Amino acid sequence: MSEYQAVKGTRDIFPEEVAQWRYVEEIVHTLSTLCGFSEIRTPVFEYTELFQRGIGPTTDIVGKEMFSFLPDPKGRSVTLRPEMTAGVMRAALQKKLFSLAPLHKLYYIGELFRKERPQAGRQRQFSQFGAELLGVSSPAAVAEVITLMMQVFESLGLTGLKLRINTLGDTEDRLRYREALQLYFSPFQEILDDASKERLEKNPLRILDSKNPAVQELVAGAPRLYDYLKASSLQDFEKVLFYLAEREIAYVIDHRLVRGLDYYSHTAFEVSSAELGAQDAIGGGGRYDGLARELGSSADVPASGFAVGMERLLITMEKQGLFAALHPHGPHVYVVVQQQELADHALQITWQLRKAGIKSEMDLAGRSMKAQMRDANRIRASYVLFVGTMEYSTGLYSLKNLATSRQTTLSLEALLQFLQEVAVKEQPAL
Ligand code: AMP
Repeated sequence: MSEYQAVKGTRDIFPEEVAQWRYVEEIVHTLSTLCGFSEIRTPVFEYTELFQRGIGPTTDIVGKEMFSFLPDPKGRSVTLRPEMTAGVMRAALQKKLFSLAPLHKLYYIGELFRKERPQAGRQRQFSQFGAELLGVSSPAAVAEVITLMMQVFESLGLTGLKLRINTLGDTEDRLRYREALQLYFSPFQEILDDASKERLEKNPLRILDSKNPAVQELVAGAPRLYDYLKASSLQDFEKVLFYLAEREIAYVIDHRLVRGLDYYSHTAFEVSSAELGAQDAIGGGGRYDGLARELGSSADVPASGFAVGMERLLITMEKQGLFAALHPHGPHVYVVVQQQELADHALQITWQLRKAGIKSEMDLAGRSMKAQMRDANRIRASYVLFVGTMEYSTGLYSLKNLATSRQTTLSLEALLQFLQEVAVKEQPAL
């Protein structure tokens, strides 16, 4: 073992697992495209103020979880992105996308960084896929992003996920509610912890998010935002629920659901997995009509979006046995060389196979035939192609199917054709 270990809260993803990631990513690309979303890739770090403004100063992320540093001594502080939405909105505003068209549908898959205490399902570097629908604020728009997210889960075969949904109303609704919360919590100064006291002044809604059991008990009796919504806000929420019901997406209304970020308005939602233990949130999102202005836009850019944690999604899939059907693409040929003086000829054949699109491998260390056969079995090759003096002189090669032990002798041309046909048949259907 080397003296170096991966940094706490980060992990390596080895090839077998990478196959699982790529399978999920493929479905994300396919379904997002199907629903009219295009992929965006933004930088891994941004100016720190972007997140301070965009996520909100009273959030845990900005308060204590950002990896920030100075790129040069006199430079502006930058931060490894702890979430994607602020960067995506920044990119759209910077590129003046909204002068070209009012509506933009973007999706992403990318790495994020948060200085949280690492534990099962919680890392310091993790990945999310998500989508942002920018430029329109409507129940149909937020229902569209929820539907895309749920469709990805369904296509992956996931079951037992719980979608909780709530409405946070608009700014006016929340102002009235904020006052009601301050009135309710103020007499309980002895029970409130320091963080909650600070939130009571700055953003009392965030007290509802507290993990402190004593505060949670208080929260249970707190007024509900739902009771402070104006008629138009209620109608908006009901329309979202109507779309979900029409698309047979099951949900539970959870009046206590407030998302960790400040920029949400109206609909907020979260999906949890019973497979995950304490860190059971697999994804979430909502509508964030106020973000663009917060980032200095002179015009409103209403928006909705979601983000799903890739690692937690993969853990859930693994627990539900959803990777069992994953198999490698095409036949896997191991070229076995019988006499070392024919190694260069065997290499030439290997490259011809690869050029024809047939996944193939051969030993590069000059090992014995027995060792090569062992290797072929270890990497679970489907076929072994023998190269010996006989084959070299006649141009006819023996191909052995390792599963059935059946052997056929074919010219190189016929062999390539045969293997290409097998490859086509074995392509997994999405
Ligand atoms: P959030 O933006 O915090 O709602 O995160 C959206 C999703 O990302 C969560 O539901 C998790 O699945 C995932 N996630 C958030 N933080 C972490 C983390 N530290 N490690 C792994 N996954 C995370």
